Amino acid sequence: MLVQWGFLCWCLFLGIQFALFVRHFETFGQTAYYWRPPGVEGFLPIGALVSLKAWLAGGYFDRVHPAALVLFLTFLVMALLARKSFCSWLCPVGTLEEGLWKLGRKLFGRNYHIWKWFDVLLRVTKYALLLFFAKLVLLDMPVLAVKAFLTAPYWAIADVKMLHFFTGMSNTSLVIILALAILSLFYQNFWCRYLCPYGALLGMLSLYSPMKIQRNRKSCNGCEACSNACPAGIKVHQLRDVCSAECTGCLTCVDHCPEPDTLAISLWQRPLPAWSFSLVVILLFASGVLFGMLSGHWETSLTYSDYQRLIPLAERLGH
Ligand code: SF4
Ligand code: SF4
Repeated sequence: MLVQWGFLCWCLFLGIQFALFVRHFETFGQTAYYWRPPGVEGFLPIGALVSLKAWLAGGYFDRVHPAALVLFLTFLVMALLARKSFCSWLCPVGTLEEGLWKLGRKLFGRNYHIWKWFDVLLRVTKYALLLFFAKLVLLDMPVLAVKAFLTAPYWAIADVKMLHFFTGMSNTSLVIILALAILSLFYQNFWCRYLCPYGALLGMLSLYSPMKIQRNRKSCNGCEACSNACPAGIKVHQLRDVCSAECTGCLTCVDHCPEPDTLAISLWQRPLPAWSFSLVVILLFASGVLFGMLSGHWETSLTYSDYQRLIPLAERLGH
C-alpha cells in the first residue's frame, strides 16, 4: 500500500512538473522554465508499442521518447519475472481503482459480483483490445510507416497531447471516466479486470513467471479467507499454485490467511517472505529505469528550440 500510494504521488509530481514545463512554452517564456521529467512517457503505451516494432524490425531505438520504450520493456520484464506486479504495485490507475472499491465497500457494506457468464464474456474485452492494437501496430503497420510516425511532429508532442487530454477533458471523456469510477465503487478493479489491454498483455506474460502464490495443502484449514479477499476473484483455496493471468501478485490473499506458513509467494516452488516480493518489484523497476538512464535511452533528443516551435502548435497537430 505504501509503495502504491507513494508511486501514485510520484506520478502526480511528474505530471505537475511536466505541466509547468509545457506552460513555459505555451506562454512563450513568460512563466518559469521547469525541467521535463522523462517518466511522463510511461503514459504513452501505444507509442511505446510502435517504438518496440521499430526496435525489433529495424534495430532503431526511438530517441524522441526513449523512456516510453524503456518503461514499456521494464513492465514486460516485471511481468515475466514477478507476475502482473506492475498492476497491483505501481499502476496509478490500479491504485485509484483499489481506493474506489474499498470506498464502495465502506459505503455499501460490500462489493458486488457480476454473473459468472457475463464476467467471463467481459474479460474477453481486454484481450480483444490487446489483439486489436497488436495487430494494428505489430502486423499491419509497415516499417516505413513506423519510422514516419516516430519522426513526425505529432509523436514529438504526444506527451503534451496526453497532458491536454487530462487538463482539457472533453465532456465525452469525462462521462466515460465518471462511469468507470462509479462502476469501480461497486465492482472490484472494473477497468483492470475487463478493459485494460496493457494488463491483458502483462497477464499473458505473467503465466511464464517463476514467482507464484503457492498454498500448502497440509496446513490449509479450508477457511476460504484467501479466495474471499482476492480482488481478482481467484479461488485460491482450491489451488496449489495460482497460475492465473488475473493474479497481480498483490499478496492480499497471503495477508488474509490465518494459518502460518500456508500461503506464500514462491520462487521456483520455494516460499519467500512477503516483504521480499515488494523488494523484487521495486528493484526490477529501479533497474529498468537505471539501465535506461545509464545506457543513454532516457532523455529525449528534442531541444529547447524544438519545444519552442512545437508546443504552441500542439492543438493543431493531429487534427
Ligand atoms: S489476492 Fe492472491 S491470488 Fe488474488 S490477485 Fe492477489 S496475489 Fe493473486
Ligand atoms: S486463507 Fe489460508 S487457511 Fe484459509 S483456505 Fe486460504 S490458504 Fe487455506
